[in-house]
Amino acid sequence: MADKILKEVADAVEELRSCGVVPCLMTLQLGEDPASSIYLASQRRTAEMVGINTEHMELSAATSQDRALKIIDMLNNDPAVHGIILHMPLPPHLDSRYLQWSINRKKDVEGVTPYNLGRLFLGVPGLVPCTASSVVELIKSVHPDLEGKEVTVVGHSDIVGKPVTIMLLQQNCTVTVCHYATSQRGMLEEHIARAEILVAAVGKPGVIKGEWIRPSATVIDVGINAVGDRIVGDVEFDEAVKRARYITPVPGGVGTVTVAHLMRNLVTAVKWQMKGGE
Ligand code: NAP
Repeated sequence: MADKILKEVADAVEELRSCGVVPCLMTLQLGEDPASSIYLASQRRTAEMVGINTEHMELSAATSQDRALKIIDMLNNDPAVHGIILHMPLPPHLDSRYLQWSINRKKDVEGVTPYNLGRLFLGVPGLVPCTASSVVELIKSVHPDLEGKEVTVVGHSDIVGKPVTIMLLQQNCTVTVCHYATSQRGMLEEHIARAEILVAAVGKPGVIKGEWIRPSATVIDVGINAVGDRIVGDVEFDEAVKRARYITPVPGGVGTVTVAHLMRNLVTAVKWQMKGGE
């Protein structure tokens, strides 16, 4: 799926370049974070592969809120920059939300501003969080008709669980959303056992036991967890794979599609900026 999306993006970029528009993704990092640096390298590699220019700005961890805001503002007003990614986490003295929300909505390729999340909520096309759109596209690739399907989403973060839930509701799925308190009450197994489709976005290795998976279910594991020198998901893969009909591996599953969606969002952003209007 990632290859197919990237091929479409490469074609669109070629067309834009033939009209004199060179799509450019700007990544901004304040301070050092090893996980963020790995994600950043993969974004830049993929962008360059499809003909998107990348620029990177690395600022000291001591940068003030005011200075960070001024830089974002400068990038917002630079017509040569089409997409801005502010890499998380930020140093603790900075207000991450405020800075992320300062990104121009038409350059918000990660779909993290209230404006784009509001459009998603209302079902109006915009820039959608890349992980959520990857999850839904992966599900649709094996369930073209989602009407009435029983889906359980574990995790309700603003960037994964909530947008996935909204998008699946828009497909008329019956969605159950689980979180920490669901686990605390010992109810997670019951909700998972009912799921024809399970989305796990927690960030805790093996928090979902393989034996809980409903036979023939589709399992989308978003979690990325480092265990020793291995990367694993939230679902106990070895047991779950015996029960699931479809399951995404970690690594090499949702993450690869997410980066492809980011590139697709950049092309959408360029076209939105060229078109003008809302
Ligand atoms: P997050 O903001 O930390 O949210 C985690 C969610 O899991 C919260 O809603 C939390 O509920 C819930 N939770 C915590 N412990 C739980 C438990 N024992 N049982 C049930 N739910 C529990 O994380 P995130 O940003 O959504 O990311 C989730 C995972 O996906 C991470 O591993 C992250 O690295 C990965 N990720 C992958 C991609 C990709 O492209 N593959 C992209 C983004 C994130 P409460 O809020 O109630 O505590």
